[in-house]
Amino acid sequence: MSAYQHILIAVDFSAACQHVLSRGIEMARQNQADINLIHVVEYLPPMDFGYEPIIVPDWYSNEQEIITQAETSLKQLATENNIQQERTTVLSGSPKNEIIRFADEHQVDLIVLGSHGRHGIQRILGSTADPILHNAHCDVLAIRITD
Ligand code: AMP
Repeated sequence: MSAYQHILIAVDFSAACQHVLSRGIEMARQNQADINLIHVVEYLPPMDFGYEPIIVPDWYSNEQEIITQAETSLKQLATENNIQQERTTVLSGSPKNEIIRFADEHQVDLIVLGSHGRHGIQRILGSTADPILHNAHCDVLAIRITD
């Protein structure tokens, strides 16, 4: 039996995301595993200085627009990489929470994501990889990204 049967590749649409995706696809081929691509829209509605949303009626529709754009981009990326469009998921919320939740709910046994290997304050501010590495209930493969 293969080591992994269901691989989840976390895509952030950064310059390095094709590299992360290619490594995830390679792992899936080696293991004859199913693949899912996931992107999480981290949407913060515009706030004024009192931390109140500026235009309350508009923010929800703006979020929907961003989600729709992300769905289109993720499907395009899937097609370019010979992955079925049905194997893509866009969620809204905190990337680390949603990626871990999706993995738990879909019997994912390996999460593939990028890691800058940052240290200090950069790590605290920028890292999605770190909390997933420490909190996921399955294996996590962190693909090294060099700036
Ligand atoms: P970061 O720690 O923010 O540099 O991100 C590290 C990796 O986490 C990225 O290379 C992606 O694989 C994944 N990632 C970050 N943000 C997202 C997101 N919004 N949706 C899906 N994956 C993400």
